[in-house]
Amino acid sequence: MPETENRKVVIIGSGCAGHTAALYAARSALEPLVFEGMMPGGLLTITTDVENYPGFPDGIMGPDLMVAMKAQAERFGTEYLFDRVTEIDFSGPPHRVASPGREVMADTVIISTGSSPRLLGLDGEDRLMGHGLSTCATCDGAFFKDQEMVIVGGGDSAMEEAIFLTRFATKVTVIHRRDALRASPIMADRAQANDKIEFMWDTVLTGYLEEDGKVAGVGIENVNSGEAGEFHAGAVFLALGHIPNTELFEGVLDLDEAGLINTKPDSPCTNIPGVFAAGDVQDRYWRQAVTAAGSGCAAALEAEAFLSGGHRGPVFED
Ligand code: NDP
Repeated sequence: MPETENRKVVIIGSGCAGHTAALYAARSALEPLVFEGMMPGGLLTITTDVENYPGFPDGIMGPDLMVAMKAQAERFGTEYLFDRVTEIDFSGPPHRVASPGREVMADTVIISTGSSPRLLGLDGEDRLMGHGLSTCATCDGAFFKDQEMVIVGGGDSAMEEAIFLTRFATKVTVIHRRDALRASPIMADRAQANDKIEFMWDTVLTGYLEEDGKVAGVGIENVNSGEAGEFHAGAVFLALGHIPNTELFEGVLDLDEAGLINTKPDSPCTNIPGVFAAGDVQDRYWRQAVTAAGSGCAAALEAEAFLSGGHRGPVFED
């Protein structure tokens, strides 16, 4: 382990929230260090078109948006490190943040570690991941050209991915555990209007069918009738929402039941002075690229205020 260095701001995670926090901290001459984690750019790097990030009337590809955000933060002096934080000690400030390659004592830490795709926990899931089972239609859909495909879930991601997969699939079947979609009406309507997409309602997966080490379909059960069966498909995509990446902070930071970091009302402050949270890792409601970016900005401004001995406080007093 090299010598311990001191930093004013360390940012853990490099999605929209992390990049935006870095941009603001860098423009305040705080020379932030960003631990990018093992998936630089975060979840937007596995998305295609982002149509709802303001400023791009024709949309922008998720990976392109992340590259641009990083370049903008680097322009003002952000240092990025392709490494995953494995140890923290928040008994400061300064707080210790360490990866296998670097150890830093940070006056402030901004946590923007995002979230990871939820899995079902069925037998063979780990083994079959990447062999016909996937949590990223945009990454893997093209590998299963001219085959039938399954999407599991009823949210916006499931609809978006189902529509995307119709570029390659002969047919896409959305399997959902209820009889109503969680997706927004615009996404639900688009998917339901697509001739290549069918819906299987009130149905849960009971297992994965396997042939030659690859997914060949799913075991299914109707939650009302209890009727069980099999559904054959060349690929299965899970679109079940996400779980916050907060394992490292368990027992250290105040987390809610779902594992999200609890922040103070109207604030990115966690229960530990000098530690802030931004983006999906603390977002119960919105989980959008633009809200993540906004909260990254707020975290950096709050870190800056903390470093100068104060708290930003409300812009408008009663
Ligand atoms: P959501 O949490 O919205 O949806 C997850 C889906 O998975 C739900 O339908 C849920 O079922 C189902 N599910 C969860 N756990 C299980 C389980 N164990 N077994 C079976 N089904 C399960 O996640 P999304 O990723 O779809 O969306 C997250 C956020 O991102 C949302 O705010 C969404 O609006 C946004 N988003 C926006 C997009 C856009 O605007 N273009 C695109 C993609 C996402 P149930 O409904 O029964 O709870």
